[in-house]
Amino acid sequence: MTHYDLAIIGGGPAGYTAAELAGKNGLKTVLFEKNALGGVCLNEGCIPTKTLLYSAKVYHTAQTADKYGVTCENPTFDLPKIIARKNKTVRKLVAGIRAKMTEAGVEVVTGEASVTTGLTDNPLIEIACNDQTYTAKKLILCTGSETVIPPIPGLRDTAFWTSREALENREVPASLVIIGGGVIGIEFATFFNTLGTHVTVVEMADEILGGMDKELSTLLRAELTKKGIDFHLAAKVVAATDHSVEIEKDGEKSVLATAQILLSVGRRPTLAGVKINEFMQTPDPNIYACGDVTGFSLLAHTAVREAEVAVAHILGELRITNCELRTKMSYTAIPGVVYTNPEVAGVGKTEEVLQKEGIPYTVKQLPMAFSGRFVAENEQGNGVCKILEGTDGAILGVHLLGNPASELIVIAGIAIEQGMTAKQLKAVVFPHPTVGEIIKETL
Ligand SMILES: Cc1cc2nc3c(=O)[nH]c(=O)nc-3n(C[C@H](O)[C@H](O)[C@H](O)COP(=O)(O)OP(=O)(O)OC[C@H]3O[C@@H](n4cnc5c(N)ncnc54)[C@H](O)[C@@H]3O)c2cc1C
Repeated sequence: MTHYDLAIIGGGPAGYTAAELAGKNGLKTVLFEKNALGGVCLNEGCIPTKTLLYSAKVYHTAQTADKYGVTCENPTFDLPKIIARKNKTVRKLVAGIRAKMTEAGVEVVTGEASVTTGLTDNPLIEIACNDQTYTAKKLILCTGSETVIPPIPGLRDTAFWTSREALENREVPASLVIIGGGVIGIEFATFFNTLGTHVTVVEMADEILGGMDKELSTLLRAELTKKGIDFHLAAKVVAATDHSVEIEKDGEKSVLATAQILLSVGRRPTLAGVKINEFMQTPDPNIYACGDVTGFSLLAHTAVREAEVAVAHILGELRITNCELRTKMSYTAIPGVVYTNPEVAGVGKTEEVLQKEGIPYTVKQLPMAFSGRFVAENEQGNGVCKILEGTDGAILGVHLLGNPASELIVIAGIAIEQGMTAKQLKAVVFPHPTVGEIIKETL
């Protein structure tokens, strides 16, 4: 039996961040991972999708290069090569995580771990993995989430894809029905649409990208419709076969024929009902939980911050650092990004949330075309910068449509997290010409 200060189950963004920090701060740490280090994010989530989307963007740029005075005749693509590049990128990044673990002195155990005792009858937590027992003073659960498979009649008998299969597929389907218009569904819609697939998205809500600013989601949908993607909103899938999906909308049923179905209706935590406090501690004070397993946010960057908060607390508890260094988890400024082309990003509250909470606000809004750099780089491109300001001048939310929204949103995230007012942010010097200047211009 080997004893550790800290055991971590799950080697995704939450788990590997916690392990690296703990190891570097002198905790004897063991990390259990049953599949591949890097978790969903590196192996079948954030990174693979963005690698594929970048190939699609390059192809689209080549197709439309004429707009920039560049001739690029009959550009083509090779999907197996795109997938091979994605796999190479994943391998490189996973190797990087392994190297970080070694450098931090973390022991990585490959295998499925389970907790065999809690603290009620034992001062140490016991974990079983590969027929061995490990003990630890503290435990962080970072076991992530899994794809939700809804009970749609006929679906389980079809060869439907989840995001996992969609990332490995080496042939472009002629048509694709995507069940679910959330972030993952819409990113895949962009990818396959760019490669020439006829894509139809079926969404149960009255707009795609629930949780994002509704006005911007509507604008993005209009852009994607122009590119040939069909949308069925407020529509429910009631049956599926290998090559068709039956939907019900306003009490009427219709059938959509399709070569392939992609299911993306959401993810759920691998453990149900995990409760945590602001230090990511569960009701058992020696057991913490971080990342998707907590059941909200379901984003890699949230997982990373939660892991930092948990380890800071553990270091304080074990008297490795001053307890004063403990920080609480803040969910005030978690950016949400959709890596479509154009990108959408938002941070802070949306208008919908402010209205629901009865918080008064004013809207400042400008087309992205007010940024010279945006115009220079986005021939005929549309975009919006929308800033929501409180009556006291505080920045309550920032929502962007247009490239590179994913990068610009960091500026707004810092401002909101630091409690900056619109006046304070406006006084910051932005480099010129950058698309980021649109934030200052809008203010
Ligand atoms: C297609 C797709 C695209 C995404 N894109 C983005 C994006 O662009 N940006 C973003 O922020 N988020 C994105 N996400 C979400 C992101 O992947 C997750 O939020 C992130 O991976 C959560 O990290 P985690 O550490 O909590 O869990 P995970 O990354 O899920 O890692 C959990 C790990 O725990 C392991 N595990 C579970 N149980 C055990 C056990 N008993 N023993 C040992 N190991 C175990 C699993 O094998 C897994 O590797 C995407 C997700 C998907 C599916």
